[in-house]
Amino acid sequence: MSIFSRFLPKRKPVEIKNNIPKEKANIRKTFGVYCHAHHGTSGDKLCPKCTALLATVMTKMGRCRYGITKPICDRCQFADQCFGVNQARDFLRIMQSAQSRMWLRHPVMAFKHKMASWGVDYAYMKHEKDLEAKAKAKNEAAKNRAKDRKNKK
Ligand SMILES: [Zn+2]
Repeated sequence: MSIFSRFLPKRKPVEIKNNIPKEKANIRKTFGVYCHAHHGTSGDKLCPKCTALLATVMTKMGRCRYGITKPICDRCQFADQCFGVNQARDFLRIMQSAQSRMWLRHPVMAFKHKMASWGVDYAYMKHEKDLEAKAKAKNEAAKNRAKDRKNKK
C-alpha cells in the first residue's frame, strides 16, 4: 500500500468461470440431436452406443487437465489423450455432424458454442504468434551478440 494507492482504480477480484456445466449441457443436447436423427431415438433416450460415449465424455471432462476454465472439448488438442483415440473420433464426428441441426433447434446454445470455439482458435493463434515472436527475439539477440563479439575483436 502506498500513499498513491487510493488514486488507483480498485482491482477487481478475478472471476473464475466454471465452463463445465454449460459445456456438459451443450454436449448432451448435441448428442440428443444427433442420436435422434441418425439412430431413430426420441425424447431423453439415446441409443446404447451414444449413451456409453456420452457417459465417457462426461466422466473424462470432470478430470480435464485445464480444470473448470477448460476450453471446449471439440476444439481441444488433447482430446485424443483424454477420451482415447476412437472415442475422440466418434465424439468429434457427432459434434460436427449435429452442428447444422443444433443451429436450428438450439440457436442460442449453438451460437455460444461457436463463440467459445472462436475463443479457443484465437488463443491457439495467439500462443503460436507468441512462440514465433519469442524465437525471433532469440535469433536477433544471438545475432547481436555475434556482432558485438566481432566488433570487440
Ligand atoms: Zn445414437
